[in-house]
Amino acid sequence: MPNKEFPRRFVKADADLNEWSVIEPYFDALRDRPLNDTAALEQWLLDYSELSAAIDEVGTDRHVKMTCQTDDEARKAAFLDFIENIEPRCKPRCHELNVKYAACPLAKELPAERYHVLDRSVRASVELFRKENVALQTEEAKLSQQFQEISGAQTVEFEGKEQTLQQLALYAENTDRELRQRAWEVEAKRRLQDADKLEGIFDQMIRLRHRIAQNADCADYREYAFKAKQRFDYTPEDCLAFHAAVEKSAVPLFRAMQEERKRHLGVDPLRPWDGSVDVFARPPLRPFSGAEALCQGASHIFHKVDDALGAQFDEMNAAGYLDLESRKGKAPGGYQATYDEERHPFIFMNAVGVQRDVRTLIHEGGHAFHCYAARHDPLLPYRSSPIEFAEVASFGMELLAFDFLGEFYKGDELDRAKRAQLEGIIGIFPWVATIDAFQHFLYTKPEHTRDERRAAWLDLRERFGGIADYTGYEDALAYAWQRQLHLFEVPFYYIEYGIAKLGALQVWRNAMQDRASATARYRKALALGGSRPLPELFETAGATFDFSERTVGPLVELVKQELDKIPA
Ligand SMILES: [Zn+2]
Repeated sequence: MPNKEFPRRFVKADADLNEWSVIEPYFDALRDRPLNDTAALEQWLLDYSELSAAIDEVGTDRHVKMTCQTDDEARKAAFLDFIENIEPRCKPRCHELNVKYAACPLAKELPAERYHVLDRSVRASVELFRKENVALQTEEAKLSQQFQEISGAQTVEFEGKEQTLQQLALYAENTDRELRQRAWEVEAKRRLQDADKLEGIFDQMIRLRHRIAQNADCADYREYAFKAKQRFDYTPEDCLAFHAAVEKSAVPLFRAMQEERKRHLGVDPLRPWDGSVDVFARPPLRPFSGAEALCQGASHIFHKVDDALGAQFDEMNAAGYLDLESRKGKAPGGYQATYDEERHPFIFMNAVGVQRDVRTLIHEGGHAFHCYAARHDPLLPYRSSPIEFAEVASFGMELLAFDFLGEFYKGDELDRAKRAQLEGIIGIFPWVATIDAFQHFLYTKPEHTRDERRAAWLDLRERFGGIADYTGYEDALAYAWQRQLHLFEVPFYYIEYGIAKLGALQVWRNAMQDRASATARYRKALALGGSRPLPELFETAGATFDFSERTVGPLVELVKQELDKIPA
C-alpha cells in the first residue's frame, strides 16, 4: 500500500492492483498519452515508475507471504497466480512503453546528468526483449518454484526430533567429532535423496536458458546474462581475471588457514565436518537466544555505527518488518525485500541462535538502510542500485559493525567471532570464484552431460577448494553445487558478491583511517541508489571499481594482517 509520504498521483488511491483488469487500463493510458515536450516525457516516466512500483509491490507481498509459509497452499497459489497471470502480461506492456520511450526523439533532450543511467538501461532492455521469451521466463520461474518446494521440504530425523537442514547446521560447531560426523552424514544423505530430481530441474533450466539466449540472438546464455544483468561496466574477461587473482592471492591463504585448523584440531586428514568447530574444543558460540535478543543486539550495533541507521532499524522492528526465526515450512536462507510502493524494507531470515545469524541480520540491515537512503527518488529504477554495489551496502555494514560485536560477545568469545568473520571473508573469495567459473562453464557449453558437469565441478574444487578429505563421500562432493540456490534461482548472480566484498573491504580500510568520514561516504553512496554508473557509486563510497590482482592482492593482505592481530 502507498506510503503517506509518497502518495499515488497517477494510479487511483483505492485501485487494487491484485487484478489484471485493474492494471491494464493504466498501461493503455501510458501507451496512448501524447508526449509533446520534455516536461510531458518526464511526467510520463514518473507515472510509469509509479505504476511499476505498485505492481512490483503486489508481487513482493505475495512472494514474502509464500516464503514465510511454503506449505500454505493458498499463499503458493497467490504467488503462482502473480508469476503466471500478472507478470507475463506486464512484461510485454512494459516493453511496449520502453519502445515508446526509446523511439521518442525528446528522450535525447532530457538532461544527461539525471537520465543517462535510466536511458542506457531502457535501451538495453528494448534491444534484448523478445516476445517469445516471456513464456519461457514464466516456465523458468515455475522451475525455480519447484526447486524451492523441494528444498523447503528437506527435513531429517536427528537426535530424536525432526529438524530443518538449517537447524542441523548447528551441529557443525559441536565439539563432539563423532556427533558432527553423524549430523553431516544425515544432511548429505538427505540432500542426495533429491539429487536426481534437482539434476532434472537443472537440466531443464540449462536448456531453457540457452533457448532464451538464442531467441535474443546471443551466442550463449553467458552473453545474454551479461546483457540482461546490464553489466555495462565489466566483461566476462574481467571475471576471468578475478578468478585468477583469487587463485593467486586468496586460495593459498585459505588453504594455510585450513592447515592451521588441522594442526590445532590434531586431526589428519581434515574432514568435511571439521570446518566450523572451534579448534580448541570450546563450546560453540551462542550469541543470543530468541529473535528478540538478536533484534535488540543488532539495534545497539546499528546505533553505534550511526544513530540515524539505528533509528531506521528500530522503526522496521516496531512496524513488523522483520521475520527472523527459523521454523518448519519457511523457505531457506535470508533476504531483504523492498515494498516498492511503500518504499519500505522487509527482512526475512532463519535464525537459530548461531553466530552466522548475527552476521546475516547485520548484512540484511545494510540492504535495508540502502532502501531507506534511496527512497526519496521518484524514479523506481533509481531507488535501488546494481547488485555489485547493493552488496557493498550490506558487506560494508558487516565491516562497519565489526568493532561493535561486543554487543553479542565478550572477551575471548569476541576474538573468536572476529577471527571467524575475517576467515569467512578469505573463504568467500574461492567460493565465489568456484560458483562463477562453474557458470561460465555451464552456459558456454550448454550441451554438456551430467557427467561432464560433475567433472567440471570437481576440477574447480581442485583449483579453488580447501584441503578437506571427502574419501567415502565422493557423491556428496560431486553434488555440492546443488547447495547453492543461486545456480537454480538467479543464474550468473554470484560474482557480484566478490566484487562487492572488494568494495566493502575498501570502505573498511577507509574506516581504519577515519571512521566518521568513511561512514559518511558510505551513506552518501547509498543515497545515490541506482542513479549513477557502478564506478561512480564505488568512488563515492571511497572505493575503486576494479577486481583484478591489483586490488585483490592488497585487500587479502590487509585481512591477513588484521587476522594476525587477533589471538588464536
Ligand atoms: Zn546481500
